[in-house]
Order: sequence, then structure tokens, then C-alpha cells
Amino acid sequence: MFVIENNVIGDEKMLHGYTGNILHVNLTTRSIEVETPDEAFYRDYIGGSLMGLYYLWKFAPQGIDALSPENVLTFALSAPTGLPVSGQSRCTATCKSPSSGGAADSQAGGFWPAELKFAGYDAVVIRGAASEPVYLSIMNGEAKLHDAAHLWGKMTLDVDNILKKEWNDKKIEIAQIGISGEKLANFASVMNMSNRAWGRTGVGAVMGSKKLKAIVVRGSQRVTPADKKAVMALSRRGPKEMEPTGMDSFGKYGTIGIVTSQHGAGGLPTNNFNSGVMASLEDATKIGGERLYDELLRGAAEEKQDRKGRDTCYACIVRCKRVVESEYNGKKLDPDYGGPEYESIATFGSYCGVNDLHAGSYANQLCNAYGVDTISCGATIAWAMECFENGLITLEDTDGIELKFGNAEAMIAMLEKTLNREGFGDILADGSAKAADRLGKGHEYLITIKGQELPAHMPQVKRSLALIYAVNPFGADHQSAEHDPAYTPKSYDNNKARLAPLGLHKPQDARVLNAEKVEFALKTQYAFSAADTLGLCQFVYGPSWQLYGVQEMADLMCAATGWDVTLEAIQDMGKKRLNMMRAYNAREGLQRDDDTLPEKMLEKALVGGRSDGVRIEHEEFESALTMYFEQAGWDVASGIPTRATLASVGLEWVADELSL
Ligand code: SF4
Repeated sequence: MFVIENNVIGDEKMLHGYTGNILHVNLTTRSIEVETPDEAFYRDYIGGSLMGLYYLWKFAPQGIDALSPENVLTFALSAPTGLPVSGQSRCTATCKSPSSGGAADSQAGGFWPAELKFAGYDAVVIRGAASEPVYLSIMNGEAKLHDAAHLWGKMTLDVDNILKKEWNDKKIEIAQIGISGEKLANFASVMNMSNRAWGRTGVGAVMGSKKLKAIVVRGSQRVTPADKKAVMALSRRGPKEMEPTGMDSFGKYGTIGIVTSQHGAGGLPTNNFNSGVMASLEDATKIGGERLYDELLRGAAEEKQDRKGRDTCYACIVRCKRVVESEYNGKKLDPDYGGPEYESIATFGSYCGVNDLHAGSYANQLCNAYGVDTISCGATIAWAMECFENGLITLEDTDGIELKFGNAEAMIAMLEKTLNREGFGDILADGSAKAADRLGKGHEYLITIKGQELPAHMPQVKRSLALIYAVNPFGADHQSAEHDPAYTPKSYDNNKARLAPLGLHKPQDARVLNAEKVEFALKTQYAFSAADTLGLCQFVYGPSWQLYGVQEMADLMCAATGWDVTLEAIQDMGKKRLNMMRAYNAREGLQRDDDTLPEKMLEKALVGGRSDGVRIEHEEFESALTMYFEQAGWDVASGIPTRATLASVGLEWVADELSL
């Protein structure tokens, strides 16, 4: 039998891949308990998002305020987490979202997820709220709460350094909120390594409302897969696939490497989504991945910059994370804060009309130091810029900051105010949608869905994203389905071997939104949803261009658990997560009316470049929405999954609770 005494984990594994332990922490009562679910639970709820949703549904009462102690915050892994293969060290944070009022869902990589597994747990479920700041340590199975008064009010990197010194161990991994989480900023993130973020949907604000500063993990257990040889075979295939899949180039330049191609396609959101291009290619190049690689990457002046300037997640060979070292206006760009991803340099670059890579990198650093989502934060400042340009807010409102598109110094000054909730920054700290409500103006310039700002992939030029952004249960998200260019007639031959087994045989133009494209969106949405359930990185595992395909997701699960997991079973896991999330939203009052696009996107055409004159057509969008609901098995009028659909993925009990 699996033995747990005084919260210390024994040696025997109940299951392959999993530790068999779920840690439950009630911060109100300061009680800590360990649940050891049976295998049926793991087969039903797998891990990651799906497991977090289970606890949210069961433990968080209907209709609660997201920032109340009744909210339930879960960090969950899955069977592959911690295995020696690329792309498995991801963890999902789940709770009720302060932005949407529905499910919050956010993933982060790094080493923390694998280390939590090594410390002995598959998930940590946090309920209640502490009366004073605390942090949680999980060391080789033993979990304890500690006073965190000395950490409160400190930057993330300072907290990392203090805790490493206190524990006398540089290898502890720390997930923490920053000052913005403490101040309950709506778009606060949870950080690990001070540069990896559970960024979206406000999970940092929820952790802040619980006065939980950090979760420190360290462990020496290793994950025992059912078939070690199969895991190693998959691992050995990785390096061979790097060049054919183009992942070597992706690893070299990172996500920021696509800035200039996005500009070329008319899909680089500029001036708060008024245009899909910057003023010139030169401007886009100034904030692009090649320039970052040549000039800002740590060690750029040395031969070995590749080794020094690229970081990775546990056991991943892709090494796509940037590490920059430079300065902005005399302020140091500290490599420990990493470097900007594409989304971050877009929101603190083109969104704001700014072509200053150093300013964008510094903004990224500030966001990591204070713990906020770079997408929502940068996009909120871009929204404020458009309000300023149109006279809705003035110098009086902004404390004298000339908040115009293209003004990098103003962008940084307003960012600093937002992070500290000072002056006008206090209004912006809860995101643009709430800021517009608070000001009673600026709604026509919002680029939000379900209260969340849009990421930097434009639905005008990747048409299926219009649909996915609208229907996604936690708001607009660029990693919830494959993007249209993977399914064009031109690219299909390259991706056919992975798309065809999903039933996708009819490639379409990137700007088409017909029944075939809806099918592509839904089926790849299931694949991405499965990756978030299995704790897998979507750059490494996915339905088309990634290092491994959906079949390898199934192979990895077979190897990890010893279960018979098919490609169809993987798709069903994704379907189950999506439907459970959607059902949770229905329970909390969200319906089809919330599945909409920003008014501006439907009313106004883009200006300039290859997307000049392009906008989303109302009729096309509404028709695609109806087709999507029909294909997904959701009631067309309400957008709620039908009983038959929920039953098809083993969620009859959810249908019962919704009285369907
Ligand atoms: S591809 Fe990048 S983000 Fe994904 S696991 Fe590897 S290093 Fe981490």
C-alpha cells in the first residue's frame, strides 16, 4: 500500500506516471490533507485543466465572487510530467476567473511542474484565505505553511533569492505572485523562475486574494513510467525531428521570431488593432526576433550566445525561451527575468505603435517582476492610448503622461503606474473592460472577449480564430486551436500526416470561415485542449507543425501509464475538458451572448498592408458560430453543451447538476 504518514510520502507508487497524491490546503483553517484517489479518478480526470475543473466544480459554490475565500485554486500536473522527454513540464492553474466570471485556466512551464511531481504530488488544491501573508512549502512530500510577511511587497526575483537563501538550496522551485497579485490587479499572473507565467485569466489575483505569496517545491522522487523504453524511444526521436519540423529555427529565434512574417501577412496588431501592419517593415524588424537574437540575447557579442541566451523547460530540447541582457534608458535588462515572447513584444510594441525593442523588453521585465500578464497589461495600455488619441482621456487623467501611440516613454511610465496601482494606473490595473466600465467610456475601442484582452494573432487574417476567440470558455486565447495557415491548400501536404488522422481532409484558404474551417477549428481545439489536460507544451505536441503530433501524445500516455490510450481517446480528453469548462461557465451564468467579438472588429476595417480593408463580417461570423455549436453538440440558442454531448464524455453528473 501507498503510505503517507505525517504528510510524508512513502516509496510505493500506486500508479505509473502519477504520484497518486493530491494535496489539499485550506488557508482559512490552515489544515493540510492528502487525498489518494483511486485509478478510476485518474482515468476520468487525467490531470491539468480537467482535474482542476473537477475540484472547482465540486468545491467552489455557484455564484461566488472570484476574489472570495470560497474560490478554489488548483495547480495540476498529469502522468507525463517529469518524464525525460521534451515538452512535458507544464502545469495548469484553474479557478474562477475575476475577468470573465467563468473558468480561469492558465498554463506555465519551466522546472516547477516537474519539481512538484518529484516532491510527491499530482496537484495542489487551495481553498480558503489566510488572514496574513503565507507561503507553502512542499519538500519531498512534506507540506507546511510559513509566514510570508518578509516576502510581501517584494519583486519576484528578490523573493526567489530570499527563499533560496533561507532554504539554503538553489534548486528549489518557486511559484509566486508579485506585487500586482498582492494588489489584486485583475490581470495578475503567477510566476515561476521569475520569467515563466501562469499569465492569463487572473489566476494571480485569486492567489493574492488568498494571501498566498508562494508555493516552494523540491523533491527527489522520480516518475516511474509503465514503459521506460517507449519513453526513451520517443525522447530519442526528438532531436531527429528538430530540423524537418522547423523546430530548430523556432528554438533559435523563439516565438518573437514571427514578428516580421506577421507584419508581412498583415496580421501584426498595431495601434490597438486598427491595423495589421506597423508603419514600415523596418519598424517591425526593429522589434523582431532576428534583431533580438543579434543584439539583446545574453552573450550576443560572444560566439556562445546560443548557449547563454536560450533557456528551456525541464528536459526540453527545443530551448525556445529568450534570455536578454542589455539596458533601456540606463535601466538594466536583467537576464534572470528572461526575455520577451512574441505576444509580449507585440502588446508592448506594435499594439502601442512602439518600435523600441529595448523598451518592449524592459516592459516585459517589469511585468515579470511585478507578476502580470504581458498580453492583457500591454493591450490595456494600447486601449488607453486610443482613448487618449480620441480625447476620451486627457493629460489631466493621465497625470501628465502624453499617452500617444508610438510614445515608448509614456508606455513605460503608464506601465509603472499600472503595476503600482497609482493614479490612472489604478484604473488600468483591472484591465481595459473594467477600466471602460469604471470611466463610463471607451467601450468602442475595447479589444476584449469575456473580459480578456486579445492576444497578438489577428482573426481578420486567420479567420477561424474569430470563432475560437469568441467561443473559448476563458476568453480570447491563441493557444486553444491550430491557426489557419496550417490548413491552407499550400501547407496541407506538409501537415497532412497529422491532420488527416483527425479527419481533416479539406484544406481552406486562411481567410475563409466555412463549415470545413469550423471543423478544423473544433478538431484542433480538442487536440490543444487535450495538451492542456495532459500538461504538454503546445509547441512540442500538437496537430500539425509541432515536434510531435497527437499520435505521440497518445503514445506518451500509453508509455507513462500503461493504459491503452488511442488518438481518439486523446481527442475525447480534449473534448471532455472543453465541455466541462463550458458547462461550468453555464453554471456561473455565461451563455451564447458572451461568445462575441469586439464591436470594433466587426464594425471597422483594418488600415494598411496586406489586410487593408479587411474586417470580420457579421453574417459570416454568426453563421460560423451556429455551425460550431452544431458540430460541438451544444444547444444553438444557449451555447450550452447538450446532455447527450456531456454523456458522450462521461459527464452525465454535470448534466444532472445543470438540470439538462
Ligand atoms: S518548447 Fe519552449 S516553452 Fe515548450 S517546453 Fe520547450 S522550452 Fe519550454
